[in-house]
Parts: sequence; structure tokens; C-alpha cells
Amino acid sequence: MECDVVVVGAGPAGSMAAKYASKGGASVLLIEERQEIGKKACTGLISTRALNECEIGLGRWIKNRIRGAFIYSPDGTGITIDGKETKAYVINRKIFDRELAKQAVKAGADLLVKAKATGLKNGKLNILTQGESLEVNPKIIIGADGVSSRVAKWAGLGRAKKVLGGVQIEGLYDVRDQGFVEVFIGSVAPGFFVWAVPLEDGIARIGLCTTANPLRHLRKMLKSHPIVSRRYHGSHLSFEVGGIPLGPPERTTAEGTILVGDAVAQVKPTSGGGIYTGALCAKIAGEVAAAAVREGDVSAKRLAEYERRWRSAIGRELSIGMKIHEVMGKLSDSDLNKVIKALDDPGILDTISQYGDMDYPSTVVKKLILAKPRLLKLSGVLAKAIR
Ligand SMILES: Cc1cc2nc3c(=O)[nH]c(=O)nc-3n(C[C@H](O)[C@H](O)[C@H](O)COP(=O)(O)OP(=O)(O)OC[C@H]3O[C@@H](n4cnc5c(N)ncnc54)[C@H](O)[C@@H]3O)c2cc1C
Repeated sequence: MECDVVVVGAGPAGSMAAKYASKGGASVLLIEERQEIGKKACTGLISTRALNECEIGLGRWIKNRIRGAFIYSPDGTGITIDGKETKAYVINRKIFDRELAKQAVKAGADLLVKAKATGLKNGKLNILTQGESLEVNPKIIIGADGVSSRVAKWAGLGRAKKVLGGVQIEGLYDVRDQGFVEVFIGSVAPGFFVWAVPLEDGIARIGLCTTANPLRHLRKMLKSHPIVSRRYHGSHLSFEVGGIPLGPPERTTAEGTILVGDAVAQVKPTSGGGIYTGALCAKIAGEVAAAAVREGDVSAKRLAEYERRWRSAIGRELSIGMKIHEVMGKLSDSDLNKVIKALDDPGILDTISQYGDMDYPSTVVKKLILAKPRLLKLSGVLAKAIR
């Protein structure tokens, strides 16, 4: 079987890459190992910007609209960040991913589900599909095969610097405000945080991510966390686990190969969100792949255009995010209580509400450092973490 580009994995990044490679004139085969598109563990919280980036607008995939967040310190003190208008959506990943895949097909890609890439030898990709073995000889392979990417391994490319464990349920929950997510920081989820994201009447996606043993932390949190355990009704409708890769490796391209999305940790280290960043990079991947095919040059040197473009678009933001993530991960509960207390000031909360951006958190951090000398009180706490 011949085609210019095979995209492995029909998540958001894979479908977007397939769409853009097709739009650029390449013949594209998009394959998905599962029998259905959109079965990924995910909270589905994406910014309004992310929805635009995915080019699908408002539709049946929108489950809720979010304008702000309640953030709780370990001692239970809460601060409110109110964006005052819709800042984010909660989506149904199954419908959302299907729509993105549909758009890739509309742009000209062929889509095969229940088709698993099983090996790559001398540029030939083996695909196992519905009991049959296919051999494809594409000019370029785009690995959009998620956190455990096999394409990355076959191409000899590196992995994420770290992978966090995420676990989430959809459960009956007394939501504080339908338009606000709740975030709990501290040893309740070491190294990351707990979230409760309102979904629809009386149901929330409640989950956490940690550096170790997420399931044990989730059980404990649902049973005994002073706020969450009182609101949670004790039964859940779904249960999901998944890894969150952070910190892209040095190289994301090789001769005839490009990696996108979770496969190469294009994920925001401050939130674990990867839909916006993955879609943004996948468009570049699709464009570069199509151009390389047109020019008859799929060398590592030619494909490095992708590397340059995606890093110039979000590379700096991801590395600042990684630093913030690392510093936050080193703070004790008592340090985090001090951080939330210092932020609990009308002027500071206004600045966060005004400049807070879930895709570009460095913007608000810079604003706060420049405009709020009061935060210098935190320098002792942060210096300890940076040491
Ligand atoms: C608990 C949790 C909560 C999250 N919440 C959010 C959130 O609120 N907002 C947000 O933006 N992000 C969130 N994320 C991250 C987000 O889900 C990912 O960043 C996003 O799905 C990455 O998209 P992708 O297309 O790169 O990979 P994926 O969505 O993982 O898609 C990869 C696809 O490749 C397929 N595949 C794998 N191997 C093969 C193979 N050999 N052959 C064929 N197909 C293959 C897989 O079946 C899968 O469909 C969350 C993640 C977790 C774990």
C-alpha cells in the first residue's frame, strides 16, 4: 500500500496533523488502534483559544462553560479567580475527537480504525488491522500515538522528561458553582493538584495527578478530604487512568519521522493540558510534512523546520511552565498555605483574573512579579524551593 504520509493515532494531534497534511496536498492514511475514536482519559477542560485552534467551534461536544476557578490551599483557605466571562469549555472527548477525525477525512485523509502500527523496518510500517497484516511504505510517518509512543521508540527519538500518573472519576458532587472549577493543592496530590470540574447537573469530573501512586491518593481524598469528601456522594459513573508526559525531549524529528502531541510531551506542565499545544504543533507538523513530500526531501534536515517552528511557538512557554511545575512540587503544605495567603489580596486577584491565561501562564507570573511588590514576601518560600 502506498501513501505519502501515515499518521499513527487519531487523537486530537493525529487528526489535526492528518488534516493539515491533506490540505497541503499529501495523500494521508490516519490509523487508530482502538475500535472507536475518542476513548482517552481526560478532563476535557480547554480554553476558548484551544477550541479556536482546533477549528471546530461550538457544538455537541461542549458540556459546560467555565469562567473561573476556586483554588484551595492545604489548610482549606480558598481564593477565587473570576474571569467574568467564558474562559474555557468542558468537552466530551468522544464527540470532540470524532469531529476532528471527521474533518481530517473531509480534508482528504483516509481513516482506518482498529488498525495498529506494530513495527517499522527500513521505512516500511506494519499495520495490523482487523486480523490482516498490511505493509505501508510512506514517505513520512507522523507519530501521534500518545504518551507511550512506539513511533518515538522506533525512530530512536527520546521520551518526555517525566510522566505523571492521572486518575479521574465522574461522580455525583455538590458543585459549588457550575461556572467554576475547583483546584486543591498540596500533599493531597504531591507534585500536582486535585481538580473537580463541573460537568452537568450534579456531576463533576474529579481527579488528581501525582508523581506516585495516584490511585491511593484518589481513594484517600474521596474518603477523607475535608471539602471534597463532603461534596462527593460516594458513587461514580466512570473511572479513568492515564499518564501525563511533561518536558519534550531534545529532538522531535528524524529522517522520515515527525512526532506530535503527547508522543513528544507537548503538554503544559502547569496544568497537564495537551489538547491546545498538541493541536497547535500538529498543524505545523502537517504543513511541514506536506511541503517536504512536495519537494521530495524528507531528510531530518528538511523536517527540522517543524522542530524550529513549534519550539518558537510554544517551546519557551513549556520550559517556563516546567520550572513553575518543579518549584511548586518542592513546596510543603505550609509553604503553599503561605503562597495562597499572599495571593489573597484584591489587587493581586484582580491581576490574576485579568491576565490569567491557562495556555500561557507565564504572562500572569510576569505581570505579578512586576506589578505586585507585596509578593516579595514569598521570595523566601520560593528561594527554598529553587535551591
Ligand atoms: C487524567 C487526565 C486528564 C486530562 N485532562 C486534560 C484537560 O482537561 N485538558 C487538556 O487539554 N488535556 C488534558 N489531558 C491531556 C490530554 O488528554 C492529552 O494531552 C491529549 O489527549 C493528547 O492528544 P494526542 O492526540 O497527542 O494523544 P492521544 O489523545 O493520547 O491520542 C493518541 C492515539 O493514538 C492511538 N495509538 C497509540 N498507539 C497506536 C498504534 N501503535 N497504532 C495506532 N494507534 C495508536 C491511541 O489509541 C490514541 O487514540 C488529560 C490527561 C489525563 C491523563
